[in-house]
Amino acid sequence: MSSISALQAQLNSGTKAVITTHFNPDSDAIGSSLAWQNYLLQLGLEVSVVVPSAVSANLKWMPGAEHILNFEDTLHKVQIEALLKEAEFIFCLDFSGLQRLHGLSHSIKSARGTKVVIDHHLNPEDFATYYYHRTTAASTCELIFDLIQEWGDDARINEAMGSCLYSGIMTDTGSFRHPNTTAHVHEVVAHLIQKGVNTNAIHRNIFDSASLDRLRFLGHILANRLDYLPEYHLSLMWITEEDQKQFNSQAGDTEGIVNYGLQIAGAIWAILLIQRPDGIKLSFRSIEPFSVNEFASKYFEGGGHKNASGGRFSSSSIEGAKEKLQEVLPLYLSEINRVKNL
Ligand code: 5GP
Ligand code: MN
Repeated sequence: MSSISALQAQLNSGTKAVITTHFNPDSDAIGSSLAWQNYLLQLGLEVSVVVPSAVSANLKWMPGAEHILNFEDTLHKVQIEALLKEAEFIFCLDFSGLQRLHGLSHSIKSARGTKVVIDHHLNPEDFATYYYHRTTAASTCELIFDLIQEWGDDARINEAMGSCLYSGIMTDTGSFRHPNTTAHVHEVVAHLIQKGVNTNAIHRNIFDSASLDRLRFLGHILANRLDYLPEYHLSLMWITEEDQKQFNSQAGDTEGIVNYGLQIAGAIWAILLIQRPDGIKLSFRSIEPFSVNEFASKYFEGGGHKNASGGRFSSSSIEGAKEKLQEVLPLYLSEINRVKNL
């Protein structure tokens, strides 16, 4: 592992680079990738952004999003493999475990380029040469901002980059309400607003751009796919493949739904099960001081942050995943009660 400061001098004009981020890329993943691409382009690098799965519709307004290459798209796949062969640097943003790349993981792992991780998730894997990693940062966008400041390049942060950075900071802090919202977060955002970022327009682009299907989908989940387990102070939600088909669910349409579970008085955590062809994807959210990261990694092959984690269950049966939960929840009862009585 080398110090990130040694990297700055190597980012010269003509250097070839690829930026990548995690499966189901969210606003922090896409925002940080596009802002970093914008910065590297200004330095004269040849740099592309490649993602393991589609960019959701509410993020496509971001400047540069139209050039993102998706590994799940057969035509892009060939192009991505060619770019990875040539790349001298591979920037891994908003993830630090290769399994989060899903199908793209092997190509990134075996690419010869120097790997650089810029991320804020717990327990980073040791696969890169350079790390700019802080779990105290609320978002990867905040880290991109901080790194550019450390390198004395504030002048290169333009409005387009600022809009991308603001998006990731806003969503990863739950619109500035999660406990990760530090004074520094507000300082960064104030600075971005001074750069001309239109925060109101971004908020509307991201949150008020749903289809009628998506709103009805949400209504269906809240009405028919939500249980509250009072003994565990847990909201349990699930979405079947059939639900997704019925409401014509698109990439990103399940994003944020798990948070509704935390709106129930007394809930300290929420779990959402999403049925996919290859298994069940789990989302975990909690309120301070209850941690879901360990639960996700211990029982569901996942991890993430203290209050927001993800995981998977290898069979694609919702009932199977619920049974597994019924088995392991009693093991957590004392921890739940300890937190509840604090
Ligand atoms: P989400 O529920 O939004 O998919 O994920 C919540 C948080 O957990 C995100 O910060 C995400 O990066 C992380 N996360 C999601 N899935 C996984 C996983 O399979 N493994 C790990 N280590 N983290 C995950
Ligand atoms: Mn993030």
